[in-house]
Formats: sequence, structure tokens, C-alpha cells
Amino acid sequence: MAKTFDVSCIVTRVVSDVASGMMPASDAYDVVVIGAGAGGMTAAAVAAAEGLSVLVIEKTEFIGGTTSWSGGMVWIPVNAKMKQASLPDSPSDAANYLASTVPETENADLRDCFLSRGPEAVEYLEANTEVRLQPVKAYPDYYPERPGATAGGRVLEPVTFDGARLGTSFKRLRPPLPEFTVLGGMMVNRLDIPHLRKFGRSFRSTLRAMRLVSQYGLQRLRAPRGTTLHLGNALAARLYASLLARNIEILFGTSVEHLLVEEDAVRGVGIADSSGSKPIVARKGVVLATGGFSHDQNLRERYFPSAAGSVSAASPGGSGDGLRIAIAAGASVGTAVASPAYWVPASRFQRADGSQGVFPHTVTDRAKPGVIAVNSSGKRFVNEAVSYHEFVLAMLRDGNDTTNRSFYLVCDRHFLWTYGLGRIRPFTLRLGRYVRRGELIEAPSIEALADLIGVEKSSLSTTVDKYNAHARMGLDPEFGRGTTIYQRHLGDAGHWPNPCVAPIEQPPFYALGIYPADLGTAIGLRTDCHARVLRKNGTAIAGLYACGNDMGSIMNGNYPGPGITLGPALTFGYIAGRHLAEISSDARPREKGQERRQA
Ligand SMILES: Cc1cc2nc3c(=O)[nH]c(=O)nc-3n(C[C@H](O)[C@H](O)[C@H](O)COP(=O)(O)OP(=O)(O)OC[C@H]3O[C@@H](n4cnc5c(N)ncnc54)[C@H](O)[C@@H]3O)c2cc1C
Repeated sequence: MAKTFDVSCIVTRVVSDVASGMMPASDAYDVVVIGAGAGGMTAAAVAAAEGLSVLVIEKTEFIGGTTSWSGGMVWIPVNAKMKQASLPDSPSDAANYLASTVPETENADLRDCFLSRGPEAVEYLEANTEVRLQPVKAYPDYYPERPGATAGGRVLEPVTFDGARLGTSFKRLRPPLPEFTVLGGMMVNRLDIPHLRKFGRSFRSTLRAMRLVSQYGLQRLRAPRGTTLHLGNALAARLYASLLARNIEILFGTSVEHLLVEEDAVRGVGIADSSGSKPIVARKGVVLATGGFSHDQNLRERYFPSAAGSVSAASPGGSGDGLRIAIAAGASVGTAVASPAYWVPASRFQRADGSQGVFPHTVTDRAKPGVIAVNSSGKRFVNEAVSYHEFVLAMLRDGNDTTNRSFYLVCDRHFLWTYGLGRIRPFTLRLGRYVRRGELIEAPSIEALADLIGVEKSSLSTTVDKYNAHARMGLDPEFGRGTTIYQRHLGDAGHWPNPCVAPIEQPPFYALGIYPADLGTAIGLRTDCHARVLRKNGTAIAGLYACGNDMGSIMNGNYPGPGITLGPALTFGYIAGRHLAEISSDARPREKGQERRQA
């Protein structure tokens, strides 16, 4: 049973998170969690709610990992919020949908476990932590034509959070990607985007926009960025607030070097920071939640197809540490996957401060009417409105696994003005700075554009002419763009007759280079239904748990709907926390100096 948590209590005080370069207050805890993203913070919050002492170790100076950059969408079928909102779903529909979108038998037990315990996890988190989720009523599953699909509600989003409630700890929350904020640090939620776009054209929207901006101005008097948090930043902040409210100790800037293993059980971790190294005992267990291996070049080369290249949209901390230290302790990695990662097409650019940016083209532009994607032969190769994961799978197929193939989004000035393209926002008057940097390619005709991007002129012209001939009638016989509710959901509802299709005909014309990138890795540690890490022979390693992207994805690299990494991260983080509380702590700490070190 969870220890009482007064959910009405707002985190107004700052509790001890520990600065980098400092060793933890104790040598022994019930639970040590490695990594402070969605998976790790959920496991920590639940274990603490169950009365266990918890230490969270975070390698970077920030809380939140990729979670804090994400859309924060959490896919949990048959959740209670759907029922409250009268949105239909049932366990059999959810199971049928998963069976049709994740056909492999591998991990089937984990998917069953996810379906049965996901709703329970949401209810528990709402009752015992600061996590608050609400259903996104209109957000179709990604394969709406498959049996058991729903048009919305399986997806939950974090309720807006006031970052000021974190007090001085707000500075520890990893900021969202700058490209997803406006005015140098203001987050905008889904429902307010239309108001900002109608600024000056609708009285109601202008008032709303002015209110948001003045609130932001006031927040900036006291904080380095806006404190009204949405999306993944709100989820990370809510989890962080939950840790602070339970006085959970957090070590920043500290790396776990190895696991302490005795008698085939994990008993703790060896940590290192600028002041040295030290063993920490975990009486009940260690939870690995270091966010997968998006930024480890060796593991990418080992598991990714070569055409995938090296671009990642994930935050920099995820560099395979969890996998490496678990493998050294005898863990096995599940490689029987449809895809080793979750993909997104991304454009690349340099920010004003010199840093390299990666813009993930998830939902903002590809499916809108008046843009097409072409390959290095100047030909379309994909229905541009399919999910970002499917889009990149088509890039990889088209590339036939050859590296450095070029791909472009191609549109005209009307499209760019109306919808924006990548990090270039709608209604951008001066495009010259993007063109001068070579980020955006501009030309007065399609033939000239073809020349600039190194594509056969006649090929690109034929592609655009062929597309335009049908697009004027809202049709796309070649790829069927706009034929499912998911695709139309990402299009422009105000565009008729097809929200995803319009001709490309008003010069100048533009091209933007796109690359396959990952949003997170799908290959990870094999686990059982308690989130315990498994050996090759299928037995569980006592005292070792994994969640988030360190755990092999229960979707096996298939992407059935929005939120299919965070939904399982919260669910299996919760399961790990509860299981740790249920087992007896027979993993007694040995005398100091007797710990066996793993290579
Ligand atoms: C732009 C974008 C949008 C996305 N939107 C969604 C979405 O809406 N829904 C969804 O389900 N998924 C989404 N994803 C994917 C999702 O964000 C990730 O899959 C998820 O956040 C991973 O959670 P995690 O807890 O495993 O890792 P993270 O959130 O990355 O946290 C891992 C933490 O571990 C730390 N760490 C790493 N190594 C160590 C170490 N050795 N010791 C201590 N700490 C360590 C890292 O610094 C990091 O803070 C999106 C991804 C991107 C890039």
C-alpha cells in the first residue's frame, strides 16, 4: 500500500536534490534508480510512495532526458479517463489492435501485462504523485483501418504544470527544444496554437494571445524562461515535483560505472563523479532507466541499418550506459524486433549560438496540403501524411540501405507562409537568413530548384506536374494521401476537399533537406512482467530492473499510436516500483570492501 501523499500539497519548498560533485547522504538505500526521465522518475516516485528509501542518479545536470523534449503523449488503452469522457474502448479492442500492429509473438506477455496494468498505473500515479493526465479526445491511432483502432482517448497528455512550483529546482528541469518555444522561452499548448495563428484577425484569438504573452512577460521577471509548462516538459516537471515532495535524494552529474553483483544478485552500484568513486548499496534493487542508446555510435552501428545514419532527435544523455552495465552483469538484449528504433524525419541546422539543431518533423508540416517529399532521383517515395515512423521506414527502403542518400521536402511560398516548414514558422516574412545559411533552398522555378538540389530537372518537374494534376482535385492516386482519419487529423481541417493535398504552384519554390533520425531506441534489455532484467536463459537477475528505453520495447519497434514509448515507460516504471516494495530485502548489504565489481 502506498504511504499517504497529500495531492493537494503543492511543492512550494525546495527539498534536497543534491548538486553535482557531491556524494549521496547515505551508503545504502532500498532502491537506486539510474536516470531521471519518465521511466526512472516513475519507478522512483512509486517506490518512495510505497515507503522505500530511494536514490536517483542522473548523469547530466538536468532532470528530464528526452522526456522533457517530447510531446508528452502517453498511450494507455482502456484508461479510466476514456470512460469518463465517454470515449469507447475495450480490452478486446485494444488487444486486437496490438495484435494487428505488433504481429510478432516476441514480448506478447509484456503487451498483455501493459494492457492489464497500464490503466492501474495511471490511477496510482494520480492518487500518489503529482502526475495528472487528461485524454486527447481526437488523436487517432496510427493505423485507424486496423481492427480495434480508436479515434482518440487512448492517448493521454500531461495537464499543464506551473514550473514556479518547483521553486529554485526549476533550473534543474531540462528546457524544451528552443524550436518548440516562442519569444525565447514560452511554451504553447496544442489548443493555443490556432489563437496565435489568428492574432490580429480574430478578436477572441487576439485577446487570448495577448493574455498568454503578458503572463509570459510576468514569468520572465522571475525565471529564465516561461513557467507555464506543457507537453513532455510538463510530464517531466510533474514527475520531478513528485520526487521533491517525497524528499527523494537526486545526485546530478554523477555516472554509474558498474553494478555490484554478489551471489548472482545485484546489490548496488558503483558511482563516479568529479570527487571520486564510491559503492552504494541497494537493499532491494537497482532500476536502469538511462534512456537507451540513441547517442552511442558503436551500438548504433551494431543494431541500426547503415542508411539510418547518425542523426538523433533524442536528448544527449542516452548513450547506452544502462545496456552496457547490465550486459556486464549477465543481462540479455532483445534483438528480435521489426525496427531497432522509433524514427522521425528530421532537418538539421545551426542555431545562432553555434549549436547544432535537429528538428523532428513529427506533426507540424509533412501532412499539410501543398508539400511533397522527394528522393535523390526527384521522385516521391512515400505518402507524406503517414506516421513519422512509417515515413522513415520508407526513406530506409528507398535508400536500399545505402548511406547518405538525400531526401527533400518541396513546397511553394504559399505553403511556407501558411504552415511553416521545419523550424521555420508560419508567417515568416524574411526567409533570406535561412536561404543564405544553405538551410533552405529557394528557386524561382521547379527546374531551378532541381538544379540547386542536384536532381534531374525533368524528373522533379514530372513529379510535381503529376502530383499537381490530381492535387487540384484533392486527390493523390499515387500514394493515397489523406485517405485515413489519422492522415486527415494531421492535415488542415480547413482545407477542402482533402486536408492533406494541394498543388505546389506559387513561386518561389523551396526545398528542405531531411534525414532519417531516431526519437528513441526500441532494442533494449529483455525483461519479465515485473520489469526484472533477464539473462539469456530467461531467468531474472535478482535486484535488477529496467524501464523506459533501457527496457526492450514491448512494441518490438512497431509504432501503433502516439505515446507508445511513454505509455510503457510509466507503466513498467510503476510495475518496477511496486514490485520492489513487494519483495523482501534479503539482498543484505555486505561489509564495506566486500562488494564484487563487474567489469
Ligand atoms: C521530439 C520528440 C518527441 C517525442 N514525443 C513523444 C511522445 O509524445 N510520446 C512518446 O511516447 N514518446 C515520445 N518521444 C520519445 C520519448 O520521449 C522517449 O522514448 C522517452 O522520453 C524515453 O524515456 P526514458 O525515461 O527511457 O529516457 P529519458 O527521458 O531520456 O531519460 C533518461 C535519463 O537518464 C540519464 N542517464 C543516461 N545515462 C545515465 C547514467 N549512466 N547515469 C545516470 N543517468 C543517466 C539521461 O541523462 C536522462 O536524463 C519523443 C521523442 C522526441 C525526441
